[in-house]
Amino acid sequence: MRIVLLGAPGSGKGTQSQRLVERHHIPQISTGDLLRAAVAKGTLLGLQAQEAMAAGRLVADEIVLGMIRERLGESDTREGFILDGFPRNLAQARALDELLRTIGQPLDAVVQLNVDYGELSRRIAGRRTCSDCGRVVNLLTLPAGALEQERCPKTGQPHRLFQRPDDNEATVAQRLRVYDEQTCPLVDYFRGQGLLRSIDAEGDLETVSARLAQALAG
Ligand code: AMP
Repeated sequence: MRIVLLGAPGSGKGTQSQRLVERHHIPQISTGDLLRAAVAKGTLLGLQAQEAMAAGRLVADEIVLGMIRERLGESDTREGFILDGFPRNLAQARALDELLRTIGQPLDAVVQLNVDYGELSRRIAGRRTCSDCGRVVNLLTLPAGALEQERCPKTGQPHRLFQRPDDNEATVAQRLRVYDEQTCPLVDYFRGQGLLRSIDAEGDLETVSARLAQALAG
């Protein structure tokens, strides 16, 4: 299964990808995660990406495409993969087509996750990540007391939560603008290829997962 999850920041791509990883045992490839790891390590690529990420702009296509080429060349992608946050503009989508044609692994589906603008902002405001295990939670939707009961699988201690630096209000507004201007045109692009499926991605996690499973089965 080779799929792309397409959706605005906060639409649940990462969360749903993780569920697909567990169910289908194929890797999640998130360019955002790869870039954040490069920034954290202080690699040259990370340094080049840092400024655009902090400002909520897209990182240069050459950087992102280089990372994707390398990642898709790894052996764990042979049975499939979930692309999360890539492609983000038409140039990336065309380059992906070309790359997948070359390696003989065309996409099976692109699923668009639809979430209302107000709900996106709300979800992003409540999003926190554990700095030890990387688990992403939402303070606004977690049942009361759930987090206190949980232990980080890496440390055995309570999760140490932080807010992503680009999840602040001003940067989120810019990221949503970038999504509208540069990523939304991919909806028509993939529809034209007969790959697009759209789901309502509002509602509780289980409901959205079920809609996604149905979209992928159809
Ligand atoms: P994300 O975790 O997907 O929300 O991505 C966080 C940030 O990383 C984005 O706001 C961009 O600055 C950068 N980024 C992630 N994926 C891409 C991509 N495919 N192309 C360009 N920039 C990206």
